[in-house]
Amino acid sequence: MSERIFIGVAWPYADGPLHLGHIAGAYLPPDIFARYHRTKGNEVLMVSGSDQHGTPITIKAEQEGKKPSQIVTQYHQQFLDSWQGLGISFDLFTNTGTANHAEVSHDIFLTLLDRGYIYKSTMLQPFCPRCRRFLPDRYIEGTCPYCYSSGTRGDQCDECGKPINPAELIEPHCRLCATTPQFKDSEHFFFRLSAFRDRLLAWVKQQTHWRQNVLNFTMRYLEEGLKDRAITRDIAWGIPVPLDGFDGKCLYVWFEAVIGYLSATKEWAKSSGDEERWRSFWQGEVKSYYFIGKDNILFHTLIWPAMLMGYGDLNLPYDVPANEFLTIEGKRLSTSRNWAVWLPDYLSRYDPDPLRYLLSANMPETGDTDFSWREFVRRNNDELVATYGNLVHRVLTFVYRSFDGCVPMPGEFDSHSQALLDKAKDTLDTMDELLYHCHFREAMRSAMSLAQETNRYLDEKSPWKTIKQDRQASATALYVAISVLSCLRTALYPFLPFSSQRLHQLLGFTGSVEDDGWRLHFPPPGQKLLPPQPLFSKLDEGLVEEEASRLGLANT
Ligand SMILES: [Zn+2]
Ligand SMILES: [Zn+2]
Repeated sequence: MSERIFIGVAWPYADGPLHLGHIAGAYLPPDIFARYHRTKGNEVLMVSGSDQHGTPITIKAEQEGKKPSQIVTQYHQQFLDSWQGLGISFDLFTNTGTANHAEVSHDIFLTLLDRGYIYKSTMLQPFCPRCRRFLPDRYIEGTCPYCYSSGTRGDQCDECGKPINPAELIEPHCRLCATTPQFKDSEHFFFRLSAFRDRLLAWVKQQTHWRQNVLNFTMRYLEEGLKDRAITRDIAWGIPVPLDGFDGKCLYVWFEAVIGYLSATKEWAKSSGDEERWRSFWQGEVKSYYFIGKDNILFHTLIWPAMLMGYGDLNLPYDVPANEFLTIEGKRLSTSRNWAVWLPDYLSRYDPDPLRYLLSANMPETGDTDFSWREFVRRNNDELVATYGNLVHRVLTFVYRSFDGCVPMPGEFDSHSQALLDKAKDTLDTMDELLYHCHFREAMRSAMSLAQETNRYLDEKSPWKTIKQDRQASATALYVAISVLSCLRTALYPFLPFSSQRLHQLLGFTGSVEDDGWRLHFPPPGQKLLPPQPLFSKLDEGLVEEEASRLGLANT
């Protein structure tokens, strides 16, 4: 029976390009998941969009002497290009600047206000006497009161992940002029998170299928007690508070960005021509997954669920498979120090599948993992090319030459052949189970082990030699190998969509891998193959040095 799967993906700030940390953490996993479910024949909706509001955008605009709208337009387009280049298959990638998003955000704000879950209060806000302005979030910096790391922003600590109230910062200063701010009263709206403690606790305790790190982090925070949170800011760039007398105040970017999951679904429904269709992904039998980095866990396991509980009639998250971080060449990624591999740079030089392969093999599912260019070249050459690409190429070129460009007619399968075909079938079943539960790294390992097994099978059968004495035995072995390639095309499709689709065509199939379904599809004998071409190419060792120098390694 087909299932309905909603996939919400973290909203990237439109204040800079995407880097590999973003991709490994939050963007590649949901794409693998969506492609797998679509191939299974399930109904999938995967949405996200660029986060266009808040202080990251205004700070970037001030730094570059541009308007915030110019910044967000520029990066939104760049995101769209990146998704296309890397094959991240959103059903809709919108942005938080749409009238639809403002409308849905206002509805949620006003409904929660009406039900008493939002209230008005004054709070001390940092005010810079020199700049003569309030300093929301990233306009104030200081030392984290929890882990004592310096340069911590006024909204969240990047080091320990704790949300921060600017008044808690040690030695706070204005980011623009370094002056010590004064704290002044400012009237704001608060979300009554504390009112949801018992309901959240009861709900979270049932989520035994969550990843351990996500569950532990959420429980720890719940046990420390939930504080009400300000959901408006003294900032002009954003969604205005929908009430009179609050000029110059906007909804806090965190409050409205999570609403984007719902507003994007409504936008998708409207453009599909059936405005009510959004309900099929938010009410009733549907599983909602939220793919994010670990710095976003609380917003998706506590705050957004509480907002949904308060609003009512909408599904809570089913799973929040947050990933840990990716380090680069053994060091913590830092955009300010340019210690990052930028996705647009990568895509301008290399193919998408080798990166998807490496990040899947090395996905930070249970702990931080590292990206290095040496590893990239090694895995491409020794695994993608040597184990898989060469297998495909040597089988297809030989069959193409020796069997008139068609899938050969097999004879009877001996036990070795049957065992390999059984393993292919088992691999799809095992991967089905693993992918369903978001164990991506292990799933890909199963597929690659099938490729290794097939290489061993061919070494033993050596159909290239036996063809001279026993053409039927050779045809049978090659037919078995081609059937396993057909299996690998499906099994690796969620991870390597570009090369899988090419292999699909080389094998003589039409349409798409996705439409062919999650099954072992034996290519019919006599099916016409396309002239073979290598799926991947070897990378030169020299690029390790070259890329290292781009990271600034040469100077250290
Ligand atoms: Zn200042
Ligand atoms: Zn900290």
